[in-house]
Amino acid sequence: AVSLQGITKAFGGVTVLEPTTLDIRKGEFFSLLGPSGCGKTTLLRIIGGFEHPSGGELLIGGQPMLGTQPYDRRTNMVFQHGALFPHLTVAENIAFGLEMSRKPRGAIDRKVAEALDLVRLDGFGARRIDQLSGGQRQRVAMARALVNEPEVLLLDEPLGALDLKLRLQMQDELKRLHRAIGGTFIFVTHDQGEAISMSDRIAVMSRGVIQQVGSPRDVYEKPANRFVAEFMGHSN
Ligand code: ATP
Repeated sequence: AVSLQGITKAFGGVTVLEPTTLDIRKGEFFSLLGPSGCGKTTLLRIIGGFEHPSGGELLIGGQPMLGTQPYDRRTNMVFQHGALFPHLTVAENIAFGLEMSRKPRGAIDRKVAEALDLVRLDGFGARRIDQLSGGQRQRVAMARALVNEPEVLLLDEPLGALDLKLRLQMQDELKRLHRAIGGTFIFVTHDQGEAISMSDRIAVMSRGVIQQVGSPRDVYEKPANRFVAEFMGHSN
C-alpha cells in the first residue's frame, strides 16, 4: 500500500534519513521502532505529506505522492499530543476532519456518531475537550483521524503521554480498531514491548537507517545486527 523508494531527508545539510526503501503492505499493522531522534517521526511525516523528502519517491496505492498535500492523500495522522481544539466539543473536533468534504449536515452527524462508537465514546459528543481525560482525548484524536476513512492511518506515539495502565488499555483498543477497520496502520514508537505486542511487522531504525524489517518474532529472535539485538533487549 505504501512504498518508499530511496527516500532521503536532510535538514539544513544534516542528513536525518539515509536513502530508505520500504514497502508497507495493505492492511498491516506496521511499527517504526527506534530510539529518540532516529528519524521515525520524520519518515511518518513524509508519508503523511507534512514534510517533503530531499530525494526519492513515495507511492501510496501505486500513485506517486510527492508534491501532493496531506488532504489529497488517503492518509491521516494522529499526533502525539492529539492536536485537538480544546475549546470545541468532541463532536466539533471530529467533524473538523469532514468539513473539507462539503457533506450535508446529516451525513456529517452520522459519520461523527459512527466514529464515536468506534472509539467507544458514544454519549461524549457534546463534551468539551478540556473536560476529558488524557485517554479520552487520544480516542477523540483517533476518531477524528478515522472519520473520513483513510486507507492509511499514521500514528505518532499516540500513547506516549499516557500512564502505563491507560497505555496498555489503549494498546488493546488500537488493536481492536485495526481489526475493526481493516486499514493500514503505521505506528511510531520507541517502546520495544509496545511494537512487539501490537505489530504484524516492525522496522527497527537507528540514526536515519532502517536496520531490520521483520515480524516481531524475527526482530526479537533473529536480530540482523548488534544494534537491533541490543535495542530489543538482548544483553549479549
Ligand atoms: P523522537 O522519538 O524523539 O520524536 P524520532 O525518531 O521521531 O525521535 P525525528 O523527530 O524524526 O526523530 O528526528 C530525527 C532527527 O531530525 C533529529 O536529530 C531531529 O533533531 C532532526 N529534526 C527533525 N525535525 C527537524 C527540523 N524541522 N529541523 C531540523 N532538524 C530536525
